[in-house]
Amino acid sequence: MMSTRGAEFSDDAVVLRNYKSGEADRIAVLWTREHGKIRVLAKGSRKANSKLGGALDPLSLVRVNLVQGKGDLYVTRNVAHLQTLPTLRASYQRISAGYAVVEGVDAIPLDDVADEGIYDLLVKVMTSLDEPQFDPTLVPAAFFLKFLAYDGSEPLLEECAGCGSPGPFYAFDAGTGGVLCETCRRGTPLSSDTYSLLVRIMGGDLAGVLREAEPPGGAELIHLAHAAMENHLGKRLKVARMTPTIHSVNHE
Ligand SMILES: [Zn+2]
Repeated sequence: MMSTRGAEFSDDAVVLRNYKSGEADRIAVLWTREHGKIRVLAKGSRKANSKLGGALDPLSLVRVNLVQGKGDLYVTRNVAHLQTLPTLRASYQRISAGYAVVEGVDAIPLDDVADEGIYDLLVKVMTSLDEPQFDPTLVPAAFFLKFLAYDGSEPLLEECAGCGSPGPFYAFDAGTGGVLCETCRRGTPLSSDTYSLLVRIMGGDLAGVLREAEPPGGAELIHLAHAAMENHLGKRLKVARMTPTIHSVNHE
């Protein structure tokens, strides 16, 4: 890192969260395209006339100029929105879904993921949450499932994860590795509606699923995807557990 000290460079990033530092500064936690997850000091960003403040709001998609600071901290003097995401910003339900994703991302151990894949997934999450035709309810669950696949733990959906039988399937267990037949069943009970959502999301029809306001099996899918993500990370996700069920959120 000594060779880059002092040199300014730019990177694209999703803002995960930020917190106050000192009298007038803020530290933002970013997931960047080229440098993975980093902490960035934005000097003076809490002053009323600062141009940095709003661009560092959580769930923002930004281009940021960076200089290596002390230790693992970077310093920024310039942040610009790549997209303003107005539909996401205007909806409490969409913002809540974004926070559920951020909590999952924050729990990812840093040593295995410094590459661009997570950044690309996060950009898709933010643009999906900003798409007026998409219902945000299933976005965190879909992100968790896509992340598992990206991280080499894609759940088995075509055959029983216990015995290899071709179905039908009656349960899902993340620890066993996917769907389970009647003989092997354990974990979460699986309805045919939820199974069909799983297959569509992992098979390339996520956009079709998100266009449906209340797809049958959705609440069960949320539960199952969160449990799978928690199993993968080895820790509980508080915000994700509080994500409203599919029946109580359709009041935008
Ligand atoms: Zn089986």
